[in-house]
Amino acid sequence: MIPPIANRFVAGESPAEALAHVRQLNGHGVNGIVNLLGEHYDEREPAAADAAEYRRLVADIAGSRLGACISVKPSQLGLEIDESVFRRELEEIVAAATERGVFVWIDMEDHTTTDATLDAFEAVARERDGGERSSSDHRSDDGVGVCLQANLRRTRADLRRLADVPGKIRLVKGAYDPPSDVAYTDSTRVDQEYRTLLEYAFEHYDGGIAVGSHDPAMIEHATALHDRYGTDFEIQMLMGVREAAQYELAEEYDVYQYVPYGDRWLSYFYRRVAERRENLRFALRAVLSS
Ligand code: FAD
Repeated sequence: MIPPIANRFVAGESPAEALAHVRQLNGHGVNGIVNLLGEHYDEREPAAADAAEYRRLVADIAGSRLGACISVKPSQLGLEIDESVFRRELEEIVAAATERGVFVWIDMEDHTTTDATLDAFEAVARERDGGERSSSDHRSDDGVGVCLQANLRRTRADLRRLADVPGKIRLVKGAYDPPSDVAYTDSTRVDQEYRTLLEYAFEHYDGGIAVGSHDPAMIEHATALHDRYGTDFEIQMLMGVREAAQYELAEEYDVYQYVPYGDRWLSYFYRRVAERRENLRFALRAVLSS
């Protein structure tokens, strides 16, 4: 069982609990992005086990007809063992998801993994796009997307590079703490960069844009850009953060909630607490009232 300190941010330990949470979200008009918690594996066994669970998960999502997709972490699929392990596991998950009409997101981890992650995304997106035309089974909800971090100095160039790749991008501010030679470390500068990158994406992308932010200012900027350029976009937020706003926004826009589950919740929970003191207060209040 997920302890009260973390259960605001984590849906449960099992896929069934995660999907039950998604069913509730769907009742509010919000879709789920299901993530099995796990990262930094240095052995093949847990990477292969998580990859197999993701393949079962896409079958469960398709079978239950839920409004949901999945999001995977490169180091969970073996990137730190060998890039080829990650590539192979990702390809198999994307093949299973494409077959069943389920979308696959690739999370972005620390800046040392960006090249390998973007290369793998580009390869699976192009491969999928080529194969898709011959598949009579193809459904319109499937596809692949990758996360880009606005705090990295390189992201302007990455966004330009990915503009013609047949996939979506999720723009976030960045949850890791990269050094100043590769990243903007001042939050006002990151916000400014986020706005600039978002405008570039709305102007040049037609594959789809996800605004991965709880920040009302960024969401307002995105809706204004949508009105100006007409580009499709979706809003993505995390489980346990601004949920009332998620339900309200879902009346007008496509909204997705990132729904993590599994027993490896500790480092995910730490990241949420580190990024906002208010999250720690929520967690402590939950412990005191349990
Ligand atoms: P912040 O800059 O943290 O806050 C700005 C404003 O948003 C606040 O002033 C407040 O008005 C509002 N706000 C923020 N949090 C709260 C809250 N708890 N309660 C009330 N209001 C709040 N990062 C990665 O590095 N890689 C990933 O793959 C990745 N995937 C993500 C996927 C999703 C769906 C989301 C939502 C985020 C993801 N992130 C990822 C995390 C992201 O990089 C940020 O660390 C995180 O979203 C915090 O930044 P922010 O834009 O939400 O707002």
